[in-house]
Amino acid sequence: VAMDEEDEGAGAPDGVDGAVVATPVLAVVGRPNVGKSTLVNRMLGRREAVVQDVPGVTRDRVAYDALWNGRRFTLVDTGGWEPDATGLQAAVAAQAELAMQTADAVLLVVDASVGATTTDEAVARVLRRSDRPVLLAATKVDDDRLTADTASLWRLGLGEPHPVSGLHGRGSGDLLDAILEALPETPRDTFGASSGGPRRVALVGKPNVGKSSLLNRVSGELRSVVHDVAGTTVDPVDSLVELDGEVWRFVDTAGLRKRVKMASGMEYYASLRTQAAIEAAEVAVVLLDASEPIAEQDQRVISMVEEAGRALVLVFNKWDLVDEDRRLAMKRELERDLVRVRWAERVNVSALTGRSVAKIAPALRTALESWDQRIPTGRLNGWLADVIAATPPPVRGGKQPKVLFATQAQTRPPTFVLFTTGFLEAGYRRFLERRLREEFGFEGSPVRLSVRVRE
Ligand code: GDP
Ligand code: GDP
Repeated sequence: VAMDEEDEGAGAPDGVDGAVVATPVLAVVGRPNVGKSTLVNRMLGRREAVVQDVPGVTRDRVAYDALWNGRRFTLVDTGGWEPDATGLQAAVAAQAELAMQTADAVLLVVDASVGATTTDEAVARVLRRSDRPVLLAATKVDDDRLTADTASLWRLGLGEPHPVSGLHGRGSGDLLDAILEALPETPRDTFGASSGGPRRVALVGKPNVGKSSLLNRVSGELRSVVHDVAGTTVDPVDSLVELDGEVWRFVDTAGLRKRVKMASGMEYYASLRTQAAIEAAEVAVVLLDASEPIAEQDQRVISMVEEAGRALVLVFNKWDLVDEDRRLAMKRELERDLVRVRWAERVNVSALTGRSVAKIAPALRTALESWDQRIPTGRLNGWLADVIAATPPPVRGGKQPKVLFATQAQTRPPTFVLFTTGFLEAGYRRFLERRLREEFGFEGSPVRLSVRVRE
């Protein structure tokens, strides 16, 4: 817990620090190879199409921040999913269902040079049930020759087909205009208080704890294979992950998905990446290797989360390697090395076997609830009066400091300011924080307490 110095300000009002800027979400769906990612890159204003010219190459679902005519929105590229055992039609329909559940608007991409296939028709059927706006893009319309083919897509029952060429850019401005018209100004409130889409999670930990393995494991039933063709990779991007029936945004996972292994001497760079991911997230999953003693490097990552004021979930991975002896040793290590984050949520998993991986979601929810929690001033001061009456602050220099009142100046993380007539010793402040947690919980979230002395 960070203890601010005496005369620190009461903190910025809510929404200024660590605020989540809410932007509406557009999901892009369609069969593999219709030109989704080419179009997405075009809409993002990327110069070269960062596309693999390999049919059937699949990607994770990734989210990008897009900007058009001064308005921001989030573009979710659902990727070209490989038909699995259940078949292409089912896979794309599932993709459409997910898009409808999570996005504010959906863009169906159809290849005009091929025309509507039975799979396109099946997806359109799903999308016609959507209570969200659905737009239709007819891609690969590189010149006027395909105009007639575009018109035939009216029969999908999704309104006007917008002809575009992702390759040349033709029609993409008009499509973006139509998208902005369809998107609401502010996103729907599906994911609780923060909204602005799925809540943001940083997956961090020292090398080889199993971050890539865990990300692959939770990347869900629509298993994605990551191909890394030289020169075709996209910059830092996030992954949308379904966990326990909810969609989460794992931030800055490009490095994990690319399975880039750090050369030695790259530690400084790795630590910057970790820092950036934590800053971008609301909650951090710090992955630890349960089969090994807690290391200095683990401690450093945990401190970064604390200092950044993000919610924290400690996930002990490789639980399949833990025997009774190790279990006992770990208990001691927790007491010795992790007492200062006793409040953190803890989950034991195995990315290898999938054991308990779903339990990460409830821990994330608890941590975020605490992070968002606000204690009404009346209730806070009622509690404070009782605590102080029972255990007044120690006398210092012959004077008894009085605690006048307290207020929660901020959430995310919860930040309290105590107004007093004199200095409160660190020990007493720790005592107050302990009692605060006993009373109000805050499991999984750091809590900040600062003292302001009134003359
Ligand atoms: P996705 O699987 O739906 O994301 O499709 P891609 O964006 O990877 O594109 C599949 C193939 O179609 C690639 O070979 C692209 O170069 C090609 N393609 C994409 N957009 C266009 C376009 O507007 N015109 C033409 N002629 N080809 C395109
Ligand atoms: P990262 O560097 O944190 O991304 O770690 P990786 O995901 O690359 O995993 C490092 C090594 O640990 C690989 O050999 C994985 O197969 C292995 N590993 C990951 N998770 C588990 C687990 O739950 N149990 C076991 N036994 N091994 C694991």
